[in-house]
Amino acid sequence: MTNALYLEDSYLKECDATVVSVKDGKYVVLDRTIFYPKGGGQPWDTGTITKEDRIFNVVYVGKFSGEISHEVDQAGLREGDKVHCVLNWERRYKLMRSHTAAHVFASLLCKGTGALITGNQLEEDKVRFDFSLEKYDREILYKYIDEANSLFKRDISVKWYELPKEEALKIPGVIKMAKALPPDIPNLRIVEIVGVDKQADGGTHVKNLKEVGKIELLKTENKGKNNRRVYFTLV
Ligand SMILES: [Zn+2]
Repeated sequence: MTNALYLEDSYLKECDATVVSVKDGKYVVLDRTIFYPKGGGQPWDTGTITKEDRIFNVVYVGKFSGEISHEVDQAGLREGDKVHCVLNWERRYKLMRSHTAAHVFASLLCKGTGALITGNQLEEDKVRFDFSLEKYDREILYKYIDEANSLFKRDISVKWYELPKEEALKIPGVIKMAKALPPDIPNLRIVEIVGVDKQADGGTHVKNLKEVGKIELLKTENKGKNNRRVYFTLV
């Protein structure tokens, strides 16, 4: 199993690694990685894998049967190669800020209205939320965006750690996705925004709410009472 370094330290921008396997010339598994694989509503990381003076661009990262596979733009890497990984940090850091912002917004919306989140996708330039809520008024979204923005001005820590699944599931609202079932693993990774939210999550986050900056509502769509959609962006 690849050692997923980003789970412990989301601020790692570079690491050394060894190639464990290569499939079809361009799907590369490493013994350790800083590249986040697509999942949980967060897009994959991009960047480079360098072997001596040859640079391979990482164009996609996914998780397949528990292994993190890096798709590179050209063949040439072989099992046993010593490589150096570098993240496209600008892209990743924006995704970290958006991801933490998304948790704050979801928490305020769910606590305030009883809405259930039915979908959530981070994109490079915006965040999409789908939720079900019978009584709905666009004004309340502005209200929660404003409340989120005032939290982003405060010095509030974000922490992540593992808890035994049974203990984790006792936390109210720890699983916000309406249809999400807890995965079949003994421990859940919890992302805690101190005093604001605790959620089971495998994504990468900033360490302090001040790093988020500010968010702005982009648009809302109504697709029936059980299907509301909202987009916001970092500004
Ligand atoms: Zn999340």
